[in-house]
Amino acid sequence: MNVLMPTSLAEACTLCAKHPGVIPMAGATDLLVHWPLRQAEHDKSYLDLSKLSELRGVRWTADSLTLGALATYWDVLQDARIASVFPLLPDAARQVGAIQIQSRGTWAGNIANGSPAADGVPVLMAYDASVTLASAHGTRTVPLRSYYTGYRASVRKPDELIVSIEIPLVACDFAVFHKVGARKAQAITKVGLVITRLASGSQRWRVVASSVAATIKRCPTVEALLNTGTPLKAPADLSAAFAADVAPIDDIRSTADYRRTVLARLLFHSLQGVYDGAAAP
Ligand SMILES: Cc1cc2nc3c(=O)[nH]c(=O)nc-3n(C[C@H](O)[C@H](O)[C@H](O)COP(=O)(O)OP(=O)(O)OC[C@H]3O[C@@H](n4cnc5c(N)ncnc54)[C@H](O)[C@@H]3O)c2cc1C
Repeated sequence: MNVLMPTSLAEACTLCAKHPGVIPMAGATDLLVHWPLRQAEHDKSYLDLSKLSELRGVRWTADSLTLGALATYWDVLQDARIASVFPLLPDAARQVGAIQIQSRGTWAGNIANGSPAADGVPVLMAYDASVTLASAHGTRTVPLRSYYTGYRASVRKPDELIVSIEIPLVACDFAVFHKVGARKAQAITKVGLVITRLASGSQRWRVVASSVAATIKRCPTVEALLNTGTPLKAPADLSAAFAADVAPIDDIRSTADYRRTVLARLLFHSLQGVYDGAAAP
């Protein structure tokens, strides 16, 4: 196998252009798990990003938080301001694997891996994050909500690298992250739900679901229902809206029916006391 080790982003972009299909490697926590099954890829080159210091860490500006493409879950857990402004980031970070994975795994790797069961992606999406991609031809920024085009497929071109993730500083007055797995920790998500509500505006609700479609999904029909204040008397009142937004499947971890039922219940019960239209259970 061939491992390329650039020392600057410019060099990394040049190498991506020279080696079509090169495989970027950040924390390698996803890549190495599948190592024995990925023999076909071993003919390609790996691009080790670890020397690109410009991609490390988290940065605040007046109106946003930027996570560099090498920012790990641990980096986020170390930043006290993140815990107060974007509490769902540390909440999700603590529920990704165990400390070893949290200290190596990156938010960008979680996005690029494209798993519909990812835990970092839904939280970033509910905070309306954008992804900046770079190649030898320049950079572009894509809203995370429109990054995925299908199962493990995205708008990222083979010669592009994720260089950063930007989260706008917009106040939320309600935010919750639910991860339902087979056990409390070290489990892959069977059903995930993130809800945020902006402190002001007419389109305040954001609802993001995981493990219930081919990709992590914003749920525009459910959001519209909440934004218009539709009365909800029971979880079943959410079923039709969720059916328009997600399409769960039966697989080794769960059934479509379980996923549908749990998703509606999670949202309904999360709304108690915060959504005027929801009846007490
Ligand atoms: C034991 C264990 C437990 C885990 N638990 C969880 C969990 O609870 N929740 C969860 O969501 N995930 C979990 N994971 C998966 C994994 O840790 C995360 O998805 C992590 O965020 C991946 O980041 P990474 O830096 O290690 O990515 P890598 O493995 O380095 O890369 C993952 C993918 O992203 C691509 N990539 C990486 N960086 C870039 C970049 N800058 N630009 C373009 N492409 C890039 C790689 O080519 C690869 O396709 C677990 C993994 C293990 C091994």
